[in-house]
Amino acid sequence: MLESIGDFDKDEWLRSKAEQDNEAEGNLVGIDCRKCKNKGHISIVRNGEVMWKICDCMKARKSLKQMEQSRLKPLLDEYTFEKFIATDPWQKNALSIAQNFVEYGENHWLFFGGMSGAGKSHLCTAICGELLKRGKGVRYMMWKEDSTKLKSVITDSNEYGKLIDELKSVDVLYIDDFLKVQRGKQPTEGDINLAFEILNYRYANKSLTLISTEKTIDEILSLDDAIGGRIYQMSKNYSMNIAYDRMKNFRLRK
Ligand SMILES: [Zn+2]
Repeated sequence: MLESIGDFDKDEWLRSKAEQDNEAEGNLVGIDCRKCKNKGHISIVRNGEVMWKICDCMKARKSLKQMEQSRLKPLLDEYTFEKFIATDPWQKNALSIAQNFVEYGENHWLFFGGMSGAGKSHLCTAICGELLKRGKGVRYMMWKEDSTKLKSVITDSNEYGKLIDELKSVDVLYIDDFLKVQRGKQPTEGDINLAFEILNYRYANKSLTLISTEKTIDEILSLDDAIGGRIYQMSKNYSMNIAYDRMKNFRLRK
C-alpha cells in the first residue's frame, strides 16, 4: 500500500522535474529551436528516470557547424532568395524552380547545368540555407577538391568509408561544379565511378540532392548514361540548362 503511494508520488515528481527542465532556456546559438529551448535535448520520463532525448535540431546544428568550417558559410547570408536579382525570364524561372524545390522537392533532386556565373551557386546556396533553417542536415561538396581527396584514400577503406558515407547519407547534399576537372581534360573512370557510387545511393534512398555544373544534362548523359539518366529522372521538375547565348546577353549587360 505504502509502496504504491510512493510510486505514484515518484512518477508525479519525475514528470514535474522533466517539465521544469524543459521550461529552462539553454544557450546554444545559431538556430533558435523552441522545442528544446536551445538546450539540444528534451527531458522525458522513462523506466522511472528522467532521461535526455537528443532534440532534432542537433542535426541542423551539426551541419551548421560544418558549414562554418566550409566555404559555404560566409555565403549563406549573402546568397539568399531575397538577394537574387531576377530580371530576365530565365532568371525568374530559375528562382521559381529553386523556391519550389524548397517547398515541394522532398525526395527529388535539383539540377542546374550550363554556363558558369549564371547564379547557379547563388540559388543552390539559398536552398541550402532554407533547408538548414528547417532542420535538415546539409553537406556541401566541392566536386574537384572533395573528389580528389576521396580518390586519394580509395585504398584506405576506413578513411574512404568515413568520407563517402557522409556524402551518401546526409539529408541534403549540394554538389558544386559536378564533374569539374582540369581544363582541357575529361572526367576519368575514377571520377565516373565515384559519382555513380554517391548518386546511385542517393537515388535508391530518394535523398535531396542539388547538382550544379557547367555541363548540360546532355553532356552528362553522353559521358555516362546511368548517371545522366538518374539525374534526369530525379530532377525532372527541378532542372534547368542555362544555354550559352542567354548567358552571353547576361554578361554583356553587366
Ligand atoms: Zn532543439
